[in-house]
Amino acid sequence: MTAILSCPCTSNVAYQECCGRYHNGALAASAHSLMRARYSAYAQHNIEFIKSTSLPSQQAQLDMRSIAEWSQNSQWLGLNVIAERVAQDQRHATVEFIAHWQDAEGRHQHQETSLFIKPAERWYFYDPNVPLRAERNASCPCGSGLKFKKCCAPYL
Ligand SMILES: [Zn+2]
Ligand SMILES: [Zn+2]
Repeated sequence: MTAILSCPCTSNVAYQECCGRYHNGALAASAHSLMRARYSAYAQHNIEFIKSTSLPSQQAQLDMRSIAEWSQNSQWLGLNVIAERVAQDQRHATVEFIAHWQDAEGRHQHQETSLFIKPAERWYFYDPNVPLRAERNASCPCGSGLKFKKCCAPYL
């Protein structure tokens, strides 16, 4: 018997046709797809995916130990994506969501709006715990090659 494993992001789509594609290396076509894939990665303790989909200039400073602990000590109950707003430049997007999980202290739900950045062909999650800073006329630390003031500065 083969069971169809529904995706941990609670999209009601099979994992292999939903976040599994991105975990296997496909490029996320949108910020909200990446949001879902990151949630599923938390559910599956795929910490490497969490790291590799964070903005490259932030990766070295991420607190991977607390990310791994949060992933492992929680039961991931589902994700609601409420809204995605793509900026006119097509390189910045926000995703508003509610994440549901349970840990030793009980059930939690957390509503947040996350920023996603696409310096070139790939979307990345912007981690607000590791702020991007640069001089306004310096090249943007997201790696786009544009000046900071013309790229990420207005979104931070
Ligand atoms: Zn999914
Ligand atoms: Zn930028």
